[in-house]
Amino acid sequence: MQKNVAIVGGGLAGLTAAICLSRQGISCTVFEKRKYPFHRVCGEYVSNEAKPFLQSLGVFPAHLEPPSIHRFQLSAVNGKYVFLNLDLGGFGISRFAFDNFLAEKARESDVKILENCEVREINYHDGEFELITSTGTFTAGIVIGAYGKRSKLDFFLNRDFIKKRSPFVGVKYHIRTDFPDDLIALHNFPGGYCGISRVENGLTNLCYLVHRDVLRQSGNIAAMEGEVLCRNPLLEQIFKHSEFLFQQPETINEISFDIREPVYNHILMAGDTAGLIAPLCGNGMAMAIHAGKMVSELIHRYCKEKKSSAWLENEYARQWRALFVRRLRAGRLMQHYLFGSAVSSGIAVNLALTLPPVARQLVRLSHGQVF
Ligand SMILES: Cc1cc2nc3c(=O)[nH]c(=O)nc-3n(C[C@H](O)[C@H](O)[C@H](O)COP(=O)(O)OP(=O)(O)OC[C@H]3O[C@@H](n4cnc5c(N)ncnc54)[C@H](O)[C@@H]3O)c2cc1C
Repeated sequence: MQKNVAIVGGGLAGLTAAICLSRQGISCTVFEKRKYPFHRVCGEYVSNEAKPFLQSLGVFPAHLEPPSIHRFQLSAVNGKYVFLNLDLGGFGISRFAFDNFLAEKARESDVKILENCEVREINYHDGEFELITSTGTFTAGIVIGAYGKRSKLDFFLNRDFIKKRSPFVGVKYHIRTDFPDDLIALHNFPGGYCGISRVENGLTNLCYLVHRDVLRQSGNIAAMEGEVLCRNPLLEQIFKHSEFLFQQPETINEISFDIREPVYNHILMAGDTAGLIAPLCGNGMAMAIHAGKMVSELIHRYCKEKKSSAWLENEYARQWRALFVRRLRAGRLMQHYLFGSAVSSGIAVNLALTLPPVARQLVRLSHGQVF
């Protein structure tokens, strides 16, 4: 049985799925609304749980010499901090370079990528999908939804989470600053937290998540950074002594951490489209890659073993929940109780200083295994 697969969204989940499917002889098309390469809001620290898989696929970007990161610094709002070793660690790479590299690898693997092509509607009738896009109408036998945290498409599909407002805003810069290659820092400030780590070419990523009320009170991003982020003395040092390389920061708003449906309207949802883990965990990218791998393996079995569509949908939902739901919940709870205020961040730092095994156990709850 052969079906053509439409993949909506060419981020990590979509491109991973596309590369795997195409190499298994399954024809697929990626619909990406933007044109590579482009920046996006992300801390750009990739957990090493994804590294062996990327290497086995021949898509680990070793030529970009991504820094290897294995130490973690956590600071409270008052600047009190602790260093921890990361069990597994990770590597730093910009999404500008990484997604573009994966898109090149996908093309080399005969994936058709339609850039500047936004999917606006997906309709399902009698086992066939119709995709209405900004450049025309397409049909497909299977659709993977890998279009990230939030898209106009969610309104068309009438998904529940999109009807609720979410208070989080994300902001990202690339900076030049004096920062160790092997470290990822997470600095709290009132109403949010900011991650800092190296990416390729000696650049440093500075990315934070903040409650929209904090931004509203300050009026604009620059004022908020001066008044609120710089209340943490470690962040104040970074803001004072760094060169900011973007004209404007990359920003996103309405970031929701609700767990969503892994299958919706017969669409197999992968990566953030099925649920975004709190960024403080630093493994949303690895999870998106893992989901891309998982969905492609199941589609391969579905085609080869002539399984039913109901089998594919049920098995994907079951495996997705078994692998990701506990981590998403743990991340959300940690973000809620241990970050973003003077009291909670103080508790988090003291916990890490006085009870390191408990802190390590908390980190493990939100992390997965090498896959
Ligand atoms: C502030 C912040 C910091 C983070 N830091 C980290 C970190 O350090 N490490 C980590 O592992 N994770 C981090 N994450 C999470 C990580 O960014 C995501 O989990 C990851 O990008 C998910 O990949 P994805 O493929 O699911 O979606 P995305 O990478 O968002 O890709 C989705 C793609 O779909 C496209 N698209 C959207 N709508 C349409 C449409 N209608 N038609 C066609 N194309 C469409 C978009 O243009 C995009 O290219 C962070 C998240 C935030 C918010």
